[in-house]
Formats: sequence, structure tokens, C-alpha cells
Amino acid sequence: MEPTQVGCNSRWEETDEEEEEEEVENMMRWFEDVTGRVGTVQIETLRRILESNWGVEYLDRWFGPGIRIEEVEPTALESLYTSLVPLASHANFEHYFQRIADGDRAPILTRQPIELLSLSSGTTEGRQKFVPFTWHSARTTLQTFRLAAAYRSRVYPIREGGRILEFIYGSKQFKTKGGLTAGTATTHYYSSEEFKIKQMRTKSFTCSPEAVISGGDYRQSTYCHLLLGLLFSENIEFITSTFAYTIVQAFRALEEQWRDVVRDLGDGSLSQTITVGPMRASVLEILGSPRPALAKAIEAKCEELAGRDWTGLVPTLWPNAKYIYSIMTGSMQHYLTKLRHYSGDLPLVSADYGSTESWIGVNIDSAAPPEKVTFAVVPTFSYFEFIPLHRQRSSHGQNGCRFAAPVDDFVEGEPVPLSRVRVGQEYEVVLTTFTGLYRYRLGDVVEVVGFHNGTPKLSFICRRKLILTINIDKNTEKDLQLVVDKGSERLRKARGELVDFTSHADVGKQPGHYVIYWEIRGDVDEDVLRECCREMDNSFADHGYVVSRKSNSIGPLELRIVESGTFKKILDYFIANGAGLSQFKTPRCTNDPVLLSILNVCTINRFHSTAYTAD
Ligand code: AMP
Repeated sequence: MEPTQVGCNSRWEETDEEEEEEEVENMMRWFEDVTGRVGTVQIETLRRILESNWGVEYLDRWFGPGIRIEEVEPTALESLYTSLVPLASHANFEHYFQRIADGDRAPILTRQPIELLSLSSGTTEGRQKFVPFTWHSARTTLQTFRLAAAYRSRVYPIREGGRILEFIYGSKQFKTKGGLTAGTATTHYYSSEEFKIKQMRTKSFTCSPEAVISGGDYRQSTYCHLLLGLLFSENIEFITSTFAYTIVQAFRALEEQWRDVVRDLGDGSLSQTITVGPMRASVLEILGSPRPALAKAIEAKCEELAGRDWTGLVPTLWPNAKYIYSIMTGSMQHYLTKLRHYSGDLPLVSADYGSTESWIGVNIDSAAPPEKVTFAVVPTFSYFEFIPLHRQRSSHGQNGCRFAAPVDDFVEGEPVPLSRVRVGQEYEVVLTTFTGLYRYRLGDVVEVVGFHNGTPKLSFICRRKLILTINIDKNTEKDLQLVVDKGSERLRKARGELVDFTSHADVGKQPGHYVIYWEIRGDVDEDVLRECCREMDNSFADHGYVVSRKSNSIGPLELRIVESGTFKKILDYFIANGAGLSQFKTPRCTNDPVLLSILNVCTINRFHSTAYTAD
């Protein structure tokens, strides 16, 4: 295929009638092509974004009058754009989003009026954020899923016409003051045409009907997902969710509710706990008649599984499943241990990298273990820039940016385009999107670990924001994850399980200190927990923390054990405030007074570290 034949508008996006196999071939050829010439594809993408939104208020503000964008030479476009339009954060866009939400129909960020607003999960930042959603957002979601599915099918082929057990959840949508519909991006996607197209094109069908996905009560939806997943147990080709947390919470629910599920299968009935009318009706219709033989077989398997703590739950209950597919990187890494427990030998395939703001990269090496997964950037999705981040142990020298950057250990270099990133370098991702975000700092830190043709393969490092900091100490989510991993090794040896965790930098009393909250399962001796606490305190490698602990300007780390079900309460709190389970991420650090009061009320034991006492 000549590169000139395939531009940013890929052929495969428009070939509804072509046979699937040919389409998959086209798609992969298209990807090979665009990743082979990322420089020109990115300039084309930038041109398309600017031309389609030329004259909007935000661009006028920076470009001023007199520039005819269609006449700017390709070679000059990027430098003109980046020299005139500043880097910006969500806060810089917030009042534009608010005007749109309030009903201002003027061309503010995009020429086409925005009809939908997405809510990013907000669980990392503590509050939800509006982001525009357009047809382009749903279309790139479809492209991402299809592209990833094409690469996956090379390693793990699946049977056509099979079923997928998808733990997916639409959240409540609501109207803004200006009458726009707002909801999570995943909710918009599940109710879009593209979601149906994906099933038709990949010839893999989700077990649950729309009424279950968008039922609005995650406990009821989870029950029905499980029930239907078991009804179709022989046909399930793979199990998936957006983020791995959701799969773990669903299997935990199965551990508790399997007897009810078995009874419903056997009787062809539905538990009275399912009260959402359309969900009840559609599940009962699919269930049809009683299945006593199936129920008996599943009951026997569940009894056996319960006797071995549900090890290998997935291959036992879904014998034809080929893999589990979900985001398992970043803050989801914690759930890998539990996923492996449930999945036995079945491969775990870590899903793609994106955000409410834009999709970014696709995992094209499906065989890679989740710890090693990388994401090949798709150069047509957005115009990407990368701010080089250099680690050093003091935080001077923020440069090059007109807007304030987070104060952390990174010194920033000048942003570079996609075609100029280097292997081994860490960067913050910057997006210019078709949905009206211009040079928007995403706040994610990634490392370039290689290339696919000319496009970088990114490893997700962490959110850039510092989560634990009292004075000169600086710790990110990843630092905390490493510390908790170390601390929980001892717990695991004592046959305890760390269900979930979060933290808080307590500065209420002098000296301030870190509090780490753990929900655990299993009978674990207090001495073991004391050791875990000390181990975590010792494991913070940040120089600022170590120095502060030695001089006692930061007090001993405190481990608080919370009662069983506490993190469920935290989930419920977010869901009640409009978050979608599909995008939920347990906040790894919190200052939210409601969360802190839940955690503190549920605390059943406390330990103070004895580390550094001899220094
Ligand atoms: P949301 O609030 O749902 O838009 O979350 C988007 C954020 O989730 C991204 O900015 C990342 O921080 C994180 N994220 C998304 N995909 C991945 C991934 N594959 N690995 C790690 N983190 C991810």
C-alpha cells in the first residue's frame, strides 16, 4: 500500500461492507502506515484540528487576527502553533467548560457545538472534571478497541460468534444548567452506536443487555452480569472490564452470592434483590426456562472453588475463556495479585491507554505480562507533545511554561513533538484534541521504552501529582505503591490479603506524619502488622522523607487497619456522587473530609512505626 493512499481518514473506518478478515488486514496495514510516518501524520492531525475549529474564541485569543491557517506551510505549522498557544492545565480550561455546561452555544473551543460533557472519574484528583465529548471521542474508542482486538487475535485467537463477559457499567447521566447531557465517557460510549458496531464487527457479543449495563445500580448490574456470564459459561471467549478493579469486585461479589446465582439459574427465576424494572425484565427474558443441569454443574464447581479459596475461579467456571483483558497498569497494579489468584494459568492481557480527554496508545504486544506492557501511540487520535521530565532531588527550575506546573522532583525541558521523543526519557503527556483541548497537560508521566515503526511505545509511570508530601518529602502514587508492595509481602507470608489501601498526610499535629489505611482479609497477628508498618516506613526511598524521618520533622508512619467493607463504602460514596464503576479508581491518597471520616470511623486498629528510632 502506498503511504499516500492512506491519510488520517483511514480506509478501514469507512468500509462497513467489507469482510471482517479483510478489514482486520486493512486496519493493521493502516496502523503500520500511519506509525511509519508519524511526523507528517501528526502535522496533518494538527492541521485538521485547527482547520475544523478555526475562529473559535480560544484559538482567536492566542493566534489573533490575520493568520490564514490553511495557508501555513506544513513545516511551519507546529512551531507557529506551539509558539503562540501556551501549555495549559484543566484549571485553565475550567471556565470555558463551565460556560459550555451553562448553555453558551458560541464557538468557544470547537466550531461544532458540544452536546455532551464527560466527567473524568475524578477519583485521582478528588473531584470530577468536565471534559467535552463529541462523536470523535466515541469513534476513537471504537478504533482503539478494534485495533487492540486485531493485535490480540494474533496471539490469542477467539471463536467468532462467542460471548464476552464484560463488567461494564453506565453511570447516571444528568443535564447541566444549560441542558447538556453529562456523564462518564464510558457511559456515553456504551449508549453510542459505536458500541453496537464494535460487537457486530468483532463478532463477539457482550452477555448483558443494555438494561443491565445502564441499570444505574452497580450491585444489581454486577449480579446480572455474573448470572448471564454463567448462563453462557461455555461460550465465554474472554472476560473484560475497563479497569481491573471492577473484575476483582465482581468476583468478590460472586464469592458471596453464588448460591443465589445458582438458584436463579436452576429455577429460571431472578433474585428479589434485582428491583430495577427494565433490568429484571430483560434478564428474565434471556434466562427463559429453568436450567437445572447447568445450575447443578455450577454449584459443584463453586463448592469446590470455595474449598480452595476461589483459586482458579475463571478457568473453572469459564472453561473456554482465552484471557482476561483490562487495564492492569498504574493504580490498577495492586489488583494483579488477586486477579492472578482468580485467573490461574489464564493470560492477563493489559488493556490500552487513554483518558476521558483522548485515547493515546494501544497495547500491540498482547503476550507481554501486565508489568511489562507498553502502549503504541496512535498518531491520528490527537496532536501529542511530550514535556521531558528530568528527575533531581530538588525542585528548582520549572521552566518553559506560562502556567504553573506541579511542584515536584521533576525539572521540565521544552515540549517535543511525537516524532522527537527519545527512548529512556520520561515525559508528561500534552494533548491537542478534536474536542477542543489545546496543549492540555494530562498530568500523566510516561516513559518511552521503544518504538513501533516511528511511533513511541510508552510505559505508564504514574500520575504526576504528588500525593504524599508534608515538607521536603515528595512521593507519587507509584512511590506509595512500591512501599505498600514491600509492606504487604510480610502480610502475604502470614496468609493475609491486602484488599485495598489509601493514605493521608496528617498535618493536624506537629510533626506531621503519613497515615496508611489498609483493609485486610484473614486472621493476622498484631506483631505481623507492626512489622508491616515498620517495613513501609523504612521503604520510602525519597530522600526528603528519609532526612525528615531521621530528624523527626516527620513523625512515625501510622498504619490504620479498617474494618471489612470500608473500601466498598468509599466506592458507594463516589457512585452516589455520579462516578461510574467502569472508571472507578480507589484514590491512593485523600484529603477529602468525607472519605477521611469514613476511614477513621471504620478504623479498628492502629500501629505506629518503630523505624528510625535508633538513629
Ligand atoms: P479517567 O478519569 O477515567 O479519564 O482516567 C484517565 C486516567 O487513568 C489517565 O490519565 C491515567 O492516569 C489512567 N489510565 C488510563 N489508562 C491507563 C493505563 N492503561 N494504565 C495506567 N493508567 C491508565
